[in-house]
Amino acid sequence: MKLAFDNSYAEQLEGFYAASEPVAVPSPQLLYFNHALAEQMGLDSLPADDKLASIFSGNALPAGTRPIAQVYAGHQFGQFNPQLGDGRALIIGEILDRQQQRIDICLKGSGQTPFSRGGDGKAALGPMLREVLIAEAMYALGIPTTRSLAVVGTGEKVFRDLPEPGAVLTRTAASHIRIGTFAFFAAREQYDKVKQLADYCIARHDPALSDDNAKYLKFLQACIERQAQLIAQWMGVGFIHGVMNTDNMTIAGETIDYGPCAFMENYDSKTVFSSIDHQGRYAYGNQPAIAQWNLARLAETLLPLIDEDKDRSVELATEALNAFADQYQLALRKIMRQKLGLLNRDERHNNEDDALLNDWLDLLEQQQVDFTLAFRALCDAANGQRASFLNLFSDHSPVEQWLVRWEQCAQNQSNEVNNRDRVQAMLAINPWIIPRNHKVEEALRAASDLNDFSLFETLLVALQKPFEEQPDFAAFAQPANIAFTQSYKTFCGT
Ligand code: AMP
Ligand code: MG
Repeated sequence: MKLAFDNSYAEQLEGFYAASEPVAVPSPQLLYFNHALAEQMGLDSLPADDKLASIFSGNALPAGTRPIAQVYAGHQFGQFNPQLGDGRALIIGEILDRQQQRIDICLKGSGQTPFSRGGDGKAALGPMLREVLIAEAMYALGIPTTRSLAVVGTGEKVFRDLPEPGAVLTRTAASHIRIGTFAFFAAREQYDKVKQLADYCIARHDPALSDDNAKYLKFLQACIERQAQLIAQWMGVGFIHGVMNTDNMTIAGETIDYGPCAFMENYDSKTVFSSIDHQGRYAYGNQPAIAQWNLARLAETLLPLIDEDKDRSVELATEALNAFADQYQLALRKIMRQKLGLLNRDERHNNEDDALLNDWLDLLEQQQVDFTLAFRALCDAANGQRASFLNLFSDHSPVEQWLVRWEQCAQNQSNEVNNRDRVQAMLAINPWIIPRNHKVEEALRAASDLNDFSLFETLLVALQKPFEEQPDFAAFAQPANIAFTQSYKTFCGT
């Protein structure tokens, strides 16, 4: 296995990280390896599992790696923390994948770094497997995300509430640069560093802007656009990130940091699962507003670069931030129209379609219907099979009234869309399966407590094809019982 490392961050951004080595682990064992991702990364002639385990535990890093812990700050639940950083992760290097895309390779749970702030720098197996399940499910759903290459058991216990088996996750990402990375230097008024970081990000993520006179403003706009698209996609599948702090939001616009995230079951925009989110700051329905708030924190750091005139800078940044709402609304409407099977609609139908969507969501909320099942069953309704669809609802009459309006909108499309195409389009965006919280927990407990990976592996297979009906996995596609979901709590996965 040859890896041609090309560590641009470490080479170009001295002072933006601390060099740090992974802590050796006693007994590395390969528990999960993502062969499809390895193939995309161009990892040829893979060595035996024990060799992979030594590499991806950090015990035997290959030549060319240059492990670093990135420094960053972050607004955590709204409060600025000026000093964070990779406390339990190391970026071991960057490679170009088969598509010539630059990616970071990161070990999570590889031991203490200069930024561990009293933490042990380790990770427990359960949360690392959880990251694999959810990140790979997000990837299969077509949502930008960091990926999971490997999980290696370390052979030692980590101490959380109870002793848990330790593990190291190998994560890949377009980059790990966060809003909080900018905030770290802006908070210290090191604007030369902010500029250096912005130039690096532009070269890496928005190279078309390199020679633009307004490149910093346009870079901000590009970050805003990426987040608007990302959050709209989250909303479309009922994904709740759970800890949208500015240190968990990247410039590249990928979903990152799978801690207390979870998927909504019954539709309720106030849904929160995270045990520490007492105020519901990061509830499902708040995510777009929080993303915009976070982007405002990014904008603040870039103000001195955007224009020499401070007022002008604020004006331009504010305009860019205000555009988030429209971009998000546009992206969401596009997704929701396809979910509802309203194709070829244009702006003349915006009000009508938005009202139809809102009334649909109200019906789901009032009648406590599962978000994923409802949209999937609506595909059947579009196909003339209404009985199973209506069975999801306890009170049919308002649903039947809504269906009449829905059919009118669907028939009233500006271009002819034949019904088969319409159903196909709906089936291609409304997942048949998502990671159901109770199944995820069951799989993780079996792996962590009983060393039984069978459910984890089967669930992962099922989640690879979220838009296909897979009768063998029917039990995985069903929601949990209400009591489970009402008491379900997620934790920041350390
Ligand atoms: P997170 O909530 O996962 O985004 O982490 C917030 C911060 O806490 C980051 O700077 C992490 O590196 C750090 N952190 C989380 N868990 C640990 C741990 N077990 N040891 C050291 N630092 C940690
Ligand atoms: Mg984080």
